[in-house]
Parts: sequence; structure tokens; C-alpha cells
Amino acid sequence: MTAPLRIVALSGGVGGARFMRGLLAWGAATGTPLDVTVIANTGDDMRLHGLQVCPDLDTLMYTLGGAIHEGQGWGREDERFTVAEELRPYGVGWEWFTLGDRDLATHLARTSLLATGLSLSEATARLAARWDLPVTLVPMSDQPVETHVELASGETVHFEEWWVRTRAAAPARRFVQVGVDDAAPAPGALAAIAAADLVLLPPSNPVVSVGTILGVPGLADALRACAAPLVGVSPIISGAAVRGMAEACLAAVGVAATAADVALDYRARHGLLDGWLVDDADAGSLPRLAAAGIAAEARPLWMTDAEATAAIAGAAVELGRLLSSPR
Ligand code: GDP
Ligand code: CA
Repeated sequence: MTAPLRIVALSGGVGGARFMRGLLAWGAATGTPLDVTVIANTGDDMRLHGLQVCPDLDTLMYTLGGAIHEGQGWGREDERFTVAEELRPYGVGWEWFTLGDRDLATHLARTSLLATGLSLSEATARLAARWDLPVTLVPMSDQPVETHVELASGETVHFEEWWVRTRAAAPARRFVQVGVDDAAPAPGALAAIAAADLVLLPPSNPVVSVGTILGVPGLADALRACAAPLVGVSPIISGAAVRGMAEACLAAVGVAATAADVALDYRARHGLLDGWLVDDADAGSLPRLAAAGIAAEARPLWMTDAEATAAIAGAAVELGRLLSSPR
């Protein structure tokens, strides 16, 4: 039996989770054994009603565990909202942040596991065991790191409040990773990076998902030190985020919302990125990427269905293989 291809991916929630599912489908369809570790962004985490909520970890877990609400891309399928309805008359909590009953059970389980002294990595592994996940799911760090948004008005809000409640309406001046100075990469993350054959950046938000992960001290260093090629998939097509408002995040960090500028920024800011997939609509940017020494290819990058998503993931793996073969 051929040794499995060891892949590490740095992922946010919805975009990353869909891509990961496509990667696993591609592996199954092509008979390629894969050993996948997903390092998840935890910068969107928050404390709500005393519970530890980890939106991106949960989206990954539900998606890869086959329990995601497909239409939404986040939350549980067949959800009910008895607790939220009972909380409303008390006037507590965040009305704008959906908390379904099934989802609440995850937060309760996580919070009680953490209260017994488990690290977030350990608690995540315990939760993931229920879903028999086809990947190893690890948080970027065991220490809390929260993304806050400094608005042009000077006010600072939690990222989820800016993103979900105001739909990024007010321009962000900058993002602050509260706690990042005291954070270290989760042990499982470093071990997986050291052993990786290939590192993938799914089409996750480059600023508040992948960028937050890369901001954990030591994580980008580990990626630069590892021999595996790093290949990314553009979340930007034709100058706009495919779903959501990633442009608003890129604007705050002074990066133009184009597929090529996002790639060049990974290079400039972190000294990372060997290969990059852009959508066919952005094929015009290939010479610019090649000039910067980034091996880029144009393909359809809309994750419209399972088959299209698997093809995108397969293309990323093939590009990685090309880059790791002796030249
Ligand atoms: P979040 O944490 O739930 O916001 O999810 P991620 O950070 O993992 O992914 C969000 C990003 O996914 C957005 O910036 C989108 O541009 C990107 N995205 C969503 N759907 C698609 C798609 O079909 N194709 C591509 N290329 N990118 C997508
Ligand atoms: Ca997220």
C-alpha cells in the first residue's frame, strides 16, 4: 500500500470546510490515500452565555461529519431553537448570533471539557471523536486569540459582531488579535506541519481566517522551515469575494481584492506561497504571478457542487506534487 499523502490545511469556516470535503472526495475518487490535518482559525471564538463558541472549528466539524446545514454552510441540519426562544424574553445574549439547540450542545460539551482542564486541542479531539471525522482537526492554538475590529469611528468590536451583526457595513481600520502575543501554535499543528508532504490554503478568508492562523507566533516560521510546498486556492474571483465580504477585510490591511494581490501579499507579509490557483476569469494575472516566482494555474474555482469542489482540490494537490518533484 502506498503511504498516504500527508496534507496540512489552514482553514476558516465555510469556504475552508467545503474545500476540505472536496479534497477528501477527490482522494476517494482517485484512490489516493490521504492523511489530512486541518488547522482551524480560532480568532472568531467568543464567550456567549458563559459558553466557549468556536465557529470555524464547528463549521469544519459539522461539514466533515456530515451534519452541516447545507443551505447555510454553517450550523446543524435539522436544527431547533427552543433555548434561543426562551432566552429572548430575558433580554440576555446576542440576538443576532444564532444559537440552535443542537449547536448549543456542542458549546456546552466543549465548555465542560475545558472546565475539566483539557486544552482546546484535547477538547476538540473529544468532540471530533463523536463525528468520526476523516481528518485530524486541530485549533491553531490552545491559547485564546480573539480578532477584534477597530472601526474608523475608533470603536472596537468583536469580529463576529462586525461580520454577522453589521455585515461589515462600517469600514474597518484594522484588526487586532487580542491574546496573540501569549499564544503558541497548538502542538498538533506544529507536528503535522513538520511531517507534511503538502500544505494547502483552502479558499478561506485571507485576512481573518488564514491571516489570523499565520499570526500565531511560530506558525509561519514552522511553515517556512518545512520542506513541503505550500499551495493556495484563491477566495477572490474577478475582484470580489465569492461569498461574504472578504473585500472589506482586505481593504483594512491595504491589499487590493484581486486573486493575484492576495497571493503576492502572502509572499510579502509571510514569505510563503509556492503555488496558487486562480479562477479562469483571472487568467490574465498569471504572468504577474509567474514574475513573482509563484507557480500559478487558472481553473474554474467556483465550488458549485461536490464534483467541481473535488476537481479544485485535486488541482491543488497536483500542483503541489509538481512543485515537490525534484526539479
Ligand atoms: P468563514 O470562516 O466561514 O468566513 O469561511 P472561510 O474563511 O473558510 O471562507 C470564506 C471565503 O471563502 C470567502 O472569502 C469566499 O470568497 C471564499 N469562498 C466561498 N465560496 C467559494 C467558492 O465557491 N470558490 C472560491 N474560490 N472561494 C469561495
Ligand atoms: Ca470564520
